[in-house]
Amino acid sequence: MERRKVTFKLYPNAREATRLTGWIRLHCELYNAALEERIDAYRKHGTSISYYDQQNVLPAIKVDRPEFVELGSHALQQILRKLDLAFQAFFRRVKAGQTPGFPRFKASKRFSGFCYPDPAGWKLMQHGASGATLRIGSGKDAMSIRARGQHRFGDGAKPNDLTITRRNGEWFASVTLRVRPSQRCAGCWEIVPKTLAQRTHVCPHCGHTAQRDQNAASVVLIDAHTPGTGVAARPKPLSRQRAKSTSVTRETPATAPKGV
Ligand SMILES: [Zn+2]
Repeated sequence: MERRKVTFKLYPNAREATRLTGWIRLHCELYNAALEERIDAYRKHGTSISYYDQQNVLPAIKVDRPEFVELGSHALQQILRKLDLAFQAFFRRVKAGQTPGFPRFKASKRFSGFCYPDPAGWKLMQHGASGATLRIGSGKDAMSIRARGQHRFGDGAKPNDLTITRRNGEWFASVTLRVRPSQRCAGCWEIVPKTLAQRTHVCPHCGHTAQRDQNAASVVLIDAHTPGTGVAARPKPLSRQRAKSTSVTRETPATAPKGV
């Protein structure tokens, strides 16, 4: 299923901002502790620690440090995965004969944020044109943070994951949505929101009309061949491809005199 990222600006009140900052500090602490553990194991015993080794210790950490609980298991796992990716990138560059920088400890102030890798532990509610509320955390301690932004993918778009970031004192929520094939037009690839009750797809953009399930099946088929782009649905080449070929023909005469 096709994925689209939408970013919302968050407006936490002072108390919520303090709490979010505290969460970032804890995520950063976990990242650094996990990095230290990997370095120690390698230096002292010449062994390497895997992502799964570290993931399996998370429940014990939460017993010792209950303040980690409200961050959510999957968000904590995601931080360990982020460290694991940093190591994978490091070893890949070593293997390629490059001299990469070793994964580094991070400063809490510069730690950009954290990520919920699936729809658990948060909910985004859209109110009309540009208002939204982001609910994160669980139970009575959950925060409902005011947000601004809008996605145009209709009710058929299902939230997949959430990244909370902090940049220059401002907060953002990036949500990846999975757009259902039934909400897309197989004729022109535009989003055409429709409720489950609407059994016929009628595209206001290109006029393509088909039975709902038939249109969705065509979308899946097109997407399987050209993921995310809908190229097969377009009679003409994509504008980006057109721009590229035009620029090549333009650049050729311009660069030729340089070599002469
Ligand atoms: Zn269409």
